[in-house]
Amino acid sequence: MQGSRRDFLKLAGVTALGLSAATLGFLGEGAQAADALPMAADFANPLTAKRWAMVIDTAKLDDDTMDKCIHACHSFHNVPDIKGKQNIKWLWKDDFEATFPSERPDYLAEEVKKRDFLLLCNHCTNPPCVRVCPTKATFQRPDGLVAMDYHRCIGCRYCMAACPFGARSFNFQDPAPFIKEITPIYPHRTRGVVEKCTFCVEHLAQGKLPLCVEASEGAMIFGDLQDPNSDVRKVLKEKFAIRRKPELGTEPGVFYIL
Ligand code: SF4
Repeated sequence: MQGSRRDFLKLAGVTALGLSAATLGFLGEGAQAADALPMAADFANPLTAKRWAMVIDTAKLDDDTMDKCIHACHSFHNVPDIKGKQNIKWLWKDDFEATFPSERPDYLAEEVKKRDFLLLCNHCTNPPCVRVCPTKATFQRPDGLVAMDYHRCIGCRYCMAACPFGARSFNFQDPAPFIKEITPIYPHRTRGVVEKCTFCVEHLAQGKLPLCVEASEGAMIFGDLQDPNSDVRKVLKEKFAIRRKPELGTEPGVFYIL
C-alpha cells in the first residue's frame, strides 16, 4: 500500500512533456483510488513525436471494424451511450458528403461514394477550438495533440462553435447513468463539460498506440508526421490521401486514403 501511494504521488508529479495526471485524464470525477491507477513505472517509455498524425485507409475499414474501433475507444474512455441530440461521441461514422463536403465525388466509384468514414477530432495544426477557449481547458501540446483538461472546462461551448468538424460533445446531463460498464481507472466527465477524442494521450504516455488504431486491423496508421521514416510518412508517400475541409486552413492531423 505504501509503495502504491508513493508511485501514485510520482505519477501525479509527472510533468515531462506536459503530461500531468490530470491532463492524461487519470484524475477527476469518477477516478478510483490511488491503488487502481497506473504506476509511475508504466510511464517510463512513452511514445513521443514532433507531430502526431493518423492515416485512415478507408478501403480497409469495413463497418464491423469501424464499430470495433468505436467500441474500443468509447468503452475505455467511459463515453456515455446517449441517443439523440445529446449524443456524446469521440469516434463516429458518417457518409461521404458529411465527411468531405468540399470534395466533388462526381467520378468516384459508387462503392467509395457509398462508404462510411470513421471520424474523430483531427488534432488540427491550427485548431480554432484552442483559440477560443477562455480558460485554456483545451490546449495544443508541442507534439500537435489537442488535449483537454476537463477540470478547467466551464462549459461555455465556444470550442464546439469553433470546431468545423463537429468533433466535440457537451454533457447536458450527468453521463454516469449512460455508461454501461465504467472503466475504473479512467474518469467519466461531468454535466456541463465538453469532451472529445484525445488521440489516446494516456496510452501514448504508457508507450501504447491509440485504442482505435489497435482495433483497426491495420487500417489505421499512427505516427510522427515530421519523421520521414515513420509509418504515417511511408504510407503517405505511397498513397494519395485527403483531409477534411482543407479550405478552412486548420490543417487536420488525420488523413484519409480513399
Ligand atoms: Fe479542435 Fe475540432 Fe480541430 Fe479537434 S477537429 S482540433 S476539436 S477544431
